[in-house]
Amino acid sequence: MGKYKRALLKLSGEAISAGENGIIDFDMMTKIAEVIKKCVSEGTQIAVMIGAGNIWRGRQSGKMNRARADHMGMLATTINSLALQDVLESLGVDAVTMTSVEMETFADKYSSRNAVRALNNNKVVILGGGSGLPFFSTDTAAVLRAAEIEADVVLMAKNIDGIYSADPKKDLSAVKFDDITYEEIIERGLRAYDLTATIFCMDNNIKTYAFALKDPMNIYRAINGENVGTETHN
Ligand code: UDP
Repeated sequence: MGKYKRALLKLSGEAISAGENGIIDFDMMTKIAEVIKKCVSEGTQIAVMIGAGNIWRGRQSGKMNRARADHMGMLATTINSLALQDVLESLGVDAVTMTSVEMETFADKYSSRNAVRALNNNKVVILGGGSGLPFFSTDTAAVLRAAEIEADVVLMAKNIDGIYSADPKKDLSAVKFDDITYEEIIERGLRAYDLTATIFCMDNNIKTYAFALKDPMNIYRAINGENVGTETHN
């Protein structure tokens, strides 16, 4: 078994975006699902929270009522969740989507009890609909669910290979941290995660691990304690 018994994997919508070729890059999603399959087969329980940047983000909706725009965002995360469930099942992985808002025809209703029971039965639990609350992000929803299901770590799959002292695209002197505390992230004004998620982790002692999803095997490496990104803790 890997370093962690139960991990919550946060995937951004962008990570699975097909860009100009459509909404979802199913080849990328399949690569991710294959790694999830490997982790589960080696004994790690995996819950997944997906964002919706490939479809819709409430905060970028212009003049719309923000709460309604966020409702659309949460629906969009559910579209991504159902796609991942389908890909996992096509690989023979037992997976269930649980949504924060009831959609009984499409998915099961989330409760921490249902999620933990499914994880203990070796199912991959896909968490659709974020937290169910507008004005929040899926980063924040991910750390909230991680606290509820007592995950050992939140794996924050990013398009950058960890947390840096500054934006490495803009500042050549930026250095990558192997590990960092939440306090330091706040003090330095680093935007590794959104502030709400950062403070929630600090208050509730949640460990996160940021790494690049470009090579999906990094999910496996992170779960097995290899140094492929940045660990954040108190
Ligand atoms: N969202 C929300 N509450 C939540 C999680 C998500 O309202 O608890 C909405 C919000 O509109 C957000 C969208 O769903 O912009 C997609 O989530 P996010 O922006 O976190 O996706 P990502 O950036 O990870 O692709």
